[in-house]
Amino acid sequence: MIAFLDLKKINHRFNGEFQEAIKEVLKSGWYILGEQGKAFEREFSAYCGVKYSLGCANGLDALNLAIRALGFGVGDEIIVPANTYIASILAITHNGCTPVFVEPNLQTYNIDVERVESAITSCTKAIMVVHLYGQVVEMQPIWDLAQKYNLKIIEDCAQAHGAMYQGRKVGALGDIGGFSFYPGKNLGALGDGGCVVGNDEALMQKIRALGNYGSFIKYENLYVGLNSRLDELQAAFLNIKLKTLDEDNNRRREIARYYREKINNACIILPKCVSEEGHVWHLFVVRCERRDRLQKYLKDKGIETLIHYPIPPHKQQAYKQYSALSLPITEKIHNEVLSLPISPVMSDEEVEVVVEAINGFRG
Ligand SMILES: *Cc1c(COP(=O)(O)O)cnc(C)c1O
Repeated sequence: MIAFLDLKKINHRFNGEFQEAIKEVLKSGWYILGEQGKAFEREFSAYCGVKYSLGCANGLDALNLAIRALGFGVGDEIIVPANTYIASILAITHNGCTPVFVEPNLQTYNIDVERVESAITSCTKAIMVVHLYGQVVEMQPIWDLAQKYNLKIIEDCAQAHGAMYQGRKVGALGDIGGFSFYPGKNLGALGDGGCVVGNDEALMQKIRALGNYGSFIKYENLYVGLNSRLDELQAAFLNIKLKTLDEDNNRRREIARYYREKINNACIILPKCVSEEGHVWHLFVVRCERRDRLQKYLKDKGIETLIHYPIPPHKQQAYKQYSALSLPITEKIHNEVLSLPISPVMSDEEVEVVVEAINGFRG
């Protein structure tokens, strides 16, 4: 059996260091917003190349806090790719803002930069880019539009820790960025976690308060805040794992390269990689018209795959008001994508088994 993602094996590599970290936190008697959190924020800021990084409870909250701090609400529109994980959309609507869905590019699966300008209206306040599947969005046209129309750029970096564009890491490519440290992400905690990154001191201070009941001084509430903080244990675990993030991403790149070289099957469309540094392969997503048959075929051969994602946000029950939108490219992608196993702990033998199985698929 080849697991889609063997989290136990991924985390087992750090067992000894995790034990030490737990001891230290226990010894300190301090569990939320302490030294471990500060140390992680310092290291992660340095890693991303930003001035500030603020831990929070999860990736959804990171985006939610970012939009709240920017002051956007009812009547404000935020442009967002139509094929993204639901959290990108939830963060927008939780703040009362309106998501304006833009179709993706069928090659990269990221927002189609050619279609962004026509989606801008007098109500548009921001563009949320999502570096989907681990591949950085082509930022230059987004930067140009943001400048031309005076828009903020919010980055959803939940799938792309460490991906780079023109020598800069994701999180440092917009006004503000949100990361998730959900266990399955390229940098994953042993529970939930997230962080907001950015360079604007006033904005980031506001986020610090917003995530702590809207308070700078205990029991004095300046804003209508949330409780969204990163606990000390998760921060300590993340700091340990951050040290191997680049190495892990490189192993993912190696596997992706092998898949792209060796998978050769007319039924399968392989993912396009625009640049080596721009992709950290959170997911290796192929397309196949007979996707469900391919998934069953692989399952019968002991290979676990997943679909990211089976239903696009505008077709979800929760967002019935958008169900009539015509987004054919997004829907095509959702009907055809299949994510193959990829992880830093996958062995060469396992990768080879996947390649041979896929090459034997006859549709
Ligand atoms: C995982 C994910 C999120 C949300 O992160 P959580 O920590 O699960 O809340 C947001 N956006 C994208 C693109 C994601 O993949």
